[in-house]
Parts: sequence; structure tokens; C-alpha cells
Amino acid sequence: MDFNKLQIIKLLNDAEQQKTLFKKADNIRRQYVGDEVHLRGLIEFSNICRNNCLYCGIRRGNNKVVRYHMTEDELIDTARKAANIGFKTIVMQSGEDMYYTQDKMCRIIEAIKKFDVAITLSIGERTYDEYKAFREAGADRYLMRIETTDKDLYHKLDPEMSWQHRYDCLMMIKELGYELGSGIMVGLPEQTVESIADDLLFLKDIGIDMAGIGPFIPHPQTPLAGAAGGTLDLALRTMAVMRLMMPDINIPATTAMESLHPKGRIMALQAGANVVMPNVTEGEYRKLYELYPGKICVNDTPVHCRSCIGMKIEAIGRTIGKGYGGHQKSMQKTKD
Ligand code: SAH
Repeated sequence: MDFNKLQIIKLLNDAEQQKTLFKKADNIRRQYVGDEVHLRGLIEFSNICRNNCLYCGIRRGNNKVVRYHMTEDELIDTARKAANIGFKTIVMQSGEDMYYTQDKMCRIIEAIKKFDVAITLSIGERTYDEYKAFREAGADRYLMRIETTDKDLYHKLDPEMSWQHRYDCLMMIKELGYELGSGIMVGLPEQTVESIADDLLFLKDIGIDMAGIGPFIPHPQTPLAGAAGGTLDLALRTMAVMRLMMPDINIPATTAMESLHPKGRIMALQAGANVVMPNVTEGEYRKLYELYPGKICVNDTPVHCRSCIGMKIEAIGRTIGKGYGGHQKSMQKTKD
């Protein structure tokens, strides 16, 4: 649907009618991307980061974090195990850790590609040449949230970073033929519903293949410790409106949603989402990759997470996708 900004704002503000909105988004989801839920095995392979984003628990300035990165072999091994328990997509996420040089990343990507999986990278801002090399090594998708399109707010929250540069990176990634994933946080300090509406229009405009909406959850060891944070309801409404605007994209039920409510991801799957990214990180690393407090499943194993979410998905009458689950662009024209 081609909503204008005012229509989006109205839907985002309408807490009373949200059930109707969720139902509509659920119907559009079924019509365009079907009942399959695509699972992605998420490996959090390093919590070392050169950036200092005010909201993030693994920001450089948080000296209480015990830092780690997996070795090359550990990372490949984690991916092998995830592929063995049935994941057809591996998402590799980390802070901006320069230990992972271009050559190292390429070797890792080439090794993991042999497990017959799609690879999504989520490692932040790199150079064009690096993105190109990763793509040539076999990476299929790239996930990097724009976080907010309010440039002033972005620069307040990421004082050392440039919004324009992040945008340029997204454009490079797209040009190189990756499937492009992005998204935002909802409930950032000073963020308005108007700016969330702009974010949704932006995501549609740049032609994303996947987008995640996560509530902002203040981390006690960051400068935003005392902030209010986002609500699950507003995050779900944002996600549902996004489904109506972009009916055929992949939308994950985000982990941050489940951190605010024990059924957060199932609620999301019934309000427009069609993807879940269970954690396949092992051991202590899971706890140490703490972007926000209250992270779910920190004591669980990959096998447990896979079967737990699998049962929940089947209990709501959905099926687990068996393929790679890439963006199936719809040929159907959206009716207003
Ligand atoms: N370095 C990578 C991965 C970042 S972590 C990159 O730059 O893309 C993944 C996402 O976690 C971020 O993009 C952000 O949207 C989210 N995140 C970080 N801190 C958060 C918090 N306190 N609450 C909720 N989500 C958070």
C-alpha cells in the first residue's frame, strides 16, 4: 500500500485499533509471503567494537564488558553445527572488530558456503572493496540497520559516526547485488512518531529486501541507562505498517521484542513477520554479546533454541521454511 506520511502517523498512533492493524498485516503477510517462517541461525562472533553508540551495550566505552572474539575455526565450526541442525541461512553478526580483516572474512565465508547455506553478514561499516570481496567470496545478504533517519538524532546517538556514510554503505551493498537488510529501533530518546513514519518511507524508497524493527531497550552500562526505552506495542505497530507498505519483503520477529514480552516473537509473527533468527552462539559468548539487558535464551544451546522456536511456530499453524528463504519479489501489483 502506498501510504503517505499522515496515514502512517495515524496508524502508528492508533493504539486502540492495533488489533485490526495486526490482523490486516497478518493477512497481507499470508497473501504475499505465505505461511512459511524462515529461520536464520544467528552467530554473535565478536563483541569487540570500535564504535561508541550511546545506546549499545557493547560500545567501546563500556569497560565492564568482557570482550571476546571467536577464532576463525570456532566461527566456522559454529556455522557447521548450525547447518547440521537444519539452518539454511547463517547470519554472522559482530561489533566493528577489525581483527576480522578482509582476507580472514573471505576465508571464513568461503568455508561456510561449503555447508550449503545462504550467508548474511551483519558486521557494520566497511569499505567498498571489502564489501565487494565478501560478496565475491560468497556472502549473499547484508544486514545493517539505519537505526533512525532523523539525522540530528543519529548524530546525537552516534557522535563519532556519520549518517550519510551509513547510507552510502547501504547503497554500496545494494549495488554489489547483496540482498539488503536494514531497519530501525523504536523508542529512542527524542524519537517522534513523525520520524518513525519517515523511517518507513525511507526503507520503502531504498528498496530493501528485509527489515527489522526492534524496541530500544536501555542498557544500564551506557549513557542512556535512564532512558524510557521503546514499547512492544509501538514496535509491533511499526512492523505491521511496514508489512502493509512493503508486502513481499522478509520481516523478522526480533529478539528485542521477545525480551520485552515472553511471547513477543509469536505476537510479531501474527502481525506481519515471517522470519525468526534463533541464536546459535555457544557457551559464554551468548551472555557476553549483550546489546541490551534482559536478552533471552542466554543459557540455552543452539539445538534447544531451534526446537523451542520450531514448536512455537507450528503451534500457531505455521510451517518452517525449507529453502534459503530469500526475498521473493512479488509480481502482484499492490492495490490501495
Ligand atoms: N555492528 C553491526 C551490528 C550492530 S548490533 C552494525 O553496525 O550493523 C545489531 C543491532 O542491535 C543494532 O543495529 C541496533 O539496532 C540494535 N541495538 C543495539 N543496542 C540496542 C539496544 N540497547 N536496544 C535495542 N536494540 C539495540
